[in-house]
Amino acid sequence: MTTTFKRNETIHGAVFNFEKDNIAETTEIKNMTDKQTGLDAMAGDGGYQEEKYLGNYLRAKMRRDNKRFWAGDNISEYVNDHNIEQLIDEAEEAFELVLDRLLIDRETDPNSKGTARRLAKMYFNEIMAGRYEPAPDATAFPNDSADRYEGMLVVRSELRSMCSHHHQPVSGVAYIGIIAAEKLIGLSKYTRIAQWCARRGTLQEELCNDIAREISKATNSKNVAVYIQAVHGCCENRGIMAHSSLTQTTVLTGSFKTDPGAKKEFFDNIKLQQEFAPR
Ligand SMILES: [Zn+2]
Repeated sequence: MTTTFKRNETIHGAVFNFEKDNIAETTEIKNMTDKQTGLDAMAGDGGYQEEKYLGNYLRAKMRRDNKRFWAGDNISEYVNDHNIEQLIDEAEEAFELVLDRLLIDRETDPNSKGTARRLAKMYFNEIMAGRYEPAPDATAFPNDSADRYEGMLVVRSELRSMCSHHHQPVSGVAYIGIIAAEKLIGLSKYTRIAQWCARRGTLQEELCNDIAREISKATNSKNVAVYIQAVHGCCENRGIMAHSSLTQTTVLTGSFKTDPGAKKEFFDNIKLQQEFAPR
């Protein structure tokens, strides 16, 4: 794809110059590569020098690596904190163009002046942060003593997400159930993992699968159940304008799938939780 946006020299020129001749002696480049962790974003890869935008370079690199980068995919191994600052600058420039195309006067309207930058920061640092951040550290504790816990655990996690079709907010809760295995993770980790999966562009069906898979990875449990109920901005604020619509999705694995007793206990627990603290 060819570059669509004219490069903004006040943003890009001030930070570093990508021209081939200058790369070697630009100290900022050196500092930047020194800071990199696990990513050869520029070092030793001539491709970047031909690209005006880091974002274009990274997309080309992921394509070369056959790395999928859909809205719901985590691409944390391709970016680091320093890259994010650069990517925010580039996204700001692109959002400015979107506002211009929408015929919004971002020069004199005081409320629209900083909007392009606010949007860029919000996407990277908040509503899509789960794409760029590595998985939360979920230290596991052994659960293998004589008096180990063998029962079911159901954790309710608040979710904030965004649909990848319309970039409208999705808000709801996930109920995560596991049958305790030989390792247990801290209770807050269930929610951290669920939110890490949710802070992306998602489809609720895929989000349910993602949370089940990541919880199974973190706990080493083959018996995981996830039930999500959520309201979708794209159904409430536009389209059918359905203000009380609620979407429910369920993923059952292991004994939750094969043992009707475990499945019933999971949904009974959800009902008990909803009675205890309605939402
Ligand atoms: Zn939508």
